[in-house]
Amino acid sequence: MTVAQTPVALCQPIDGRHRKMFVDGAWVDASSGRTLETRNPATGAVIATVPRGDRQDVELAVAAARRAFDGPWSRFKPYERQVLLLRIADLFEKHWEEISRSDTTDMGMPIVRTRANRNRIIGMLRYYAGMATSLHGETIENSLPGEIVSFTRKEPVGVVGAIIPWNAPTAASIWKIAPALATGCTVVLKPSEEAPLTPLLIADIMNEAGVPPGVVNIVTGTGAEAGAALAEHMGVDKIVFTGSTATGQSIVLASAGNLKRVSLELGGKSPVIVCADANLDKAVPVAAMSVFANSGQICIAGSRLFVERSIHDEFVARLAAYAEGLRVGDGIDPATEIGPLVSEKQLQRVASYLQAGTAEGATLVTGGTRLVEGALAAGNFVAPTVFAGVSDDMKIAREEIFGPVISALPFDTLDEAVERANDTPYGLAAGVFTRNVATAHQLSRKIRAGSVWVNTYHAIDPAVPFGGYKMSGYGREGGAEHLDEYLNTKGVFIKID
Ligand code: NAD
Repeated sequence: MTVAQTPVALCQPIDGRHRKMFVDGAWVDASSGRTLETRNPATGAVIATVPRGDRQDVELAVAAARRAFDGPWSRFKPYERQVLLLRIADLFEKHWEEISRSDTTDMGMPIVRTRANRNRIIGMLRYYAGMATSLHGETIENSLPGEIVSFTRKEPVGVVGAIIPWNAPTAASIWKIAPALATGCTVVLKPSEEAPLTPLLIADIMNEAGVPPGVVNIVTGTGAEAGAALAEHMGVDKIVFTGSTATGQSIVLASAGNLKRVSLELGGKSPVIVCADANLDKAVPVAAMSVFANSGQICIAGSRLFVERSIHDEFVARLAAYAEGLRVGDGIDPATEIGPLVSEKQLQRVASYLQAGTAEGATLVTGGTRLVEGALAAGNFVAPTVFAGVSDDMKIAREEIFGPVISALPFDTLDEAVERANDTPYGLAAGVFTRNVATAHQLSRKIRAGSVWVNTYHAIDPAVPFGGYKMSGYGREGGAEHLDEYLNTKGVFIKID
């Protein structure tokens, strides 16, 4: 592992300046006047303060979203919503560097990665723009006596509360806002308190694009205050949530008051199965980055690495060498491959798993420590880590770490690998490396997860549904199914004789 030293000027000044939140088309402070600090996780510096919105602010935002939903926004034709989304996409092109830098400085993702998300995110906006004019019900033949025509209408579900985590603020915001705009819903989005800045930048872009007041509202604040108030609000018709499984469960409970619809993208402990016939030159970097990218702060991290016993030792050695070659540093440096963890709290959480791995008898092959050399001391940096000799019941093999930690586990037969891969409460994603097409088909069918990638990882496309099995959540983002999450289906019967 090498440590990046190049100083790079920031376009977003580290001046601790205050940003307001966006409610009903206006930039406002919290009703209470309270604020929250947000820090650059690579340096520890406070880069901004934002309003600490709470129940009262959620009340105002939901009321604004309801007025817009019932008022001017309901008269927008699909074509007009499409034009708006296309305009937003064009503005994303224009402001992409600013957006990339904002994510990098607020939550640490390396700039090479935030920049590289451009096509995916702008592609999402254009995909949902296309979908805005494709929504339709169906005419259905019924068997009722007389002349009765029956058909369905697809109608927007109403006011959507969107609650997102910190690990990919731009993608998470757009995956919630774009389908809402395409279907004619309005949104109150609550960003993570760890990374609120890009969602506020996105509000600026929505404003510049001409999104009417109240259609997109951003309320910054904590989960316990603003998040919980949104989840239980009687005027919210649906909650779309991305975050941890524990918070997802509390959102389901909070939704009971008005039985609002809920969709959940939650945590994971995804298996990657490497068969002996795999192309190891290709499999090693992909398996490594399935976890190390974004310092392991990825819901789909392939953190349980099952390797066929005959190649296990060689694979683990090559994986460790790859990990040691990764350049760790401030994500704003284009040479950085691995940035910091988002917060001191996350650093402590990951450190506790590193200790648990060793304490439970796993073999630390590489990494396993916080990095404190030179400038790294000020940030939340952890060395890319590989454990071998891991057994299925160890904490590091069962719980989501959300840090750059891979657990390698040998297997002997494919049936055994599938059984062990499925032995988890989660079911978000899985990877398979093989050159045998029959194995590829068999494993992709037998693994219980919402996404299975063969000889690749992290492949996500706006047109392909993404989401969880089991405790990784329900509902899908991406693809035509995603739009249905934001629509009600109404059955209509008209007697014509
Ligand atoms: P988190 O659950 O702690 O927080 C997510 C959001 O929920 C934040 O905005 C937070 O303020 C809010 N929140 C917290 N408590 C709340 C409550 N009681 N009511 C309402 N809102 C509340 O998650 P995190 O630590 O920010 O993110 C990491 C988790 O997110 C990991 O488990 C990861 O796997 C998951 N994640 C899943 C996906 C996916 O698509 N499946 C994507 C990214 C992250």
